[in-house]
Amino acid sequence: MKFRAAAALAVIALARAGGGATLFENGRVVVEAGAAPAALSVLVDGGRVAFVGPAAEARRRDPRAATVDLAGAYVYPGFADAHGHLAELGKALESADLKGLRSAEACAGKMRALAVPAGTWVEGDGWDQNLWTPSAFPDARTLDAVFPDRPAFARRIDGHAVWTNTAAMRAAGITASTPDPPGGRILHRPDGSPSGVFLDNAMDAVMRARPEPSDGDLRRWFAAALSSCASVGLTEVGDASGYGEREIAVLRKMAAEGALPIRVYATIGAWSPEFDALLARGPQAGDVLSVRAVKIYADGALGSRGAALLADYSDDPGNRGLDVTPPARIESIAKRCLAAGFQVWIHAIGDRANRAALDALEAAEKAVPSADPRPRIEHAQVVTPEDRPRFARLGVIASIQPAFTTSDMPWAEARLSAARIGESYAWRSLEKAGARLAGGSDFPVESNDPRKGIYAAVTREDADGRPPGGWRPAEDLSRKDAVALYTSGAAYAMFQEARRGSIAAGKDADFSVLDRDLGSCPAAEIPKARVVMTVVAGNVAFPGR
Ligand SMILES: [Zn+2]
Repeated sequence: MKFRAAAALAVIALARAGGGATLFENGRVVVEAGAAPAALSVLVDGGRVAFVGPAAEARRRDPRAATVDLAGAYVYPGFADAHGHLAELGKALESADLKGLRSAEACAGKMRALAVPAGTWVEGDGWDQNLWTPSAFPDARTLDAVFPDRPAFARRIDGHAVWTNTAAMRAAGITASTPDPPGGRILHRPDGSPSGVFLDNAMDAVMRARPEPSDGDLRRWFAAALSSCASVGLTEVGDASGYGEREIAVLRKMAAEGALPIRVYATIGAWSPEFDALLARGPQAGDVLSVRAVKIYADGALGSRGAALLADYSDDPGNRGLDVTPPARIESIAKRCLAAGFQVWIHAIGDRANRAALDALEAAEKAVPSADPRPRIEHAQVVTPEDRPRFARLGVIASIQPAFTTSDMPWAEARLSAARIGESYAWRSLEKAGARLAGGSDFPVESNDPRKGIYAAVTREDADGRPPGGWRPAEDLSRKDAVALYTSGAAYAMFQEARRGSIAAGKDADFSVLDRDLGSCPAAEIPKARVVMTVVAGNVAFPGR
């Protein structure tokens, strides 16, 4: 309660400040990852830190500054998530979470409670008929009772089935005579009419009918995602979506209107039809919005056996995954990016994809020498010991997602075998080999909460503390290094280290204020730390007014 009161006061103080200086007082300031919390005051002026030091000295420097009483809370440099997907998170926030619900009616009821604008389809995620009595597939009629005219659909928990209402089937032109596509099945009632459940490849027949998102949809998704990010203490997000012209235009407009509550470092997609045009426009490094990086996919994901491996999947002999972008093409795109002044982000999960990405970056940097290219490999999940030192040698940043470690541990060894598992999720080994690390969540795949990422990096235990002592604990990170992933590491990975990543005079006034010390609290308490306040450029981005 103490902190809540302080946060409310902060909003009032800033409102009164009207652009003048603000003094953040009575905080325990962690000036950088690993530093001991210190009783310091932070004077903020013009969105930047003007002074960090003793309270009396700070007040003497600007006696008229408005004050924010932090009431003993811990002030961290603003946390940045180096890899997330804003539009997807915003869209997911508009979808009803149906996981664990005990009947089709309960699912329909939860979807009814959503506030989704007219013209968009109502969505749900996570139903599982195995939890229902009887455990039968649902029927369109249950959704029709709630949504008689408006298309609605919900994905099964495993993503391999969708359940729709009649309006969605009508929009998609599905009738009793629509044939099953190869690799898919449309379920029917005893009278032959489609029941509203579509399996595997049959899902496309319905999903294709969904309207393309409008600029308004994109704007709403960005706004919802960014306020969610602010609420978990993030002051900046690296968006790995690889956007096209429309998404970038919406972000630019929001930035110009002051409608981005936290900072965004966006990527453009090498696959986008507007890639050439976006590249030709040149890199943009703005205060709240930067567009200066390009996303390329080298492979798929490990869970679906799309990650490109040097040897067969242990649980699927003959399968070595997918080259989503052929290595020669990765190299040619990387060269174009370097020539145009753009940073390269290569999604690489398997050891073959990581090697291909490193080879491509090595060749591209030789062909197009640049002063400070800072290429990134996104995920870097399975990297052979021989390839680890290449990250340092080539200046490649390993952009890692600590929460994947514990999400994937139940099945990762089956894919990779006990012999190869040592190559994977080896964060400490990568760091020891000299790689610079940056931390992210890949939200909405994982929670966007950096506290959960820090906890996973430190403990390698899941949310329930399993396995005790952590999964392959030799690869854990220290508290300092785990916090650095989301502060100095992420800042460097987004070319922001001169402005952000620590609290110092001259740097941006971006702070994540928590109710406890992540450096000394019991590890199990890290995810429970409460976000007291998120401050971006001296303004309180969370809690809102
Ligand atoms: Zn991603």
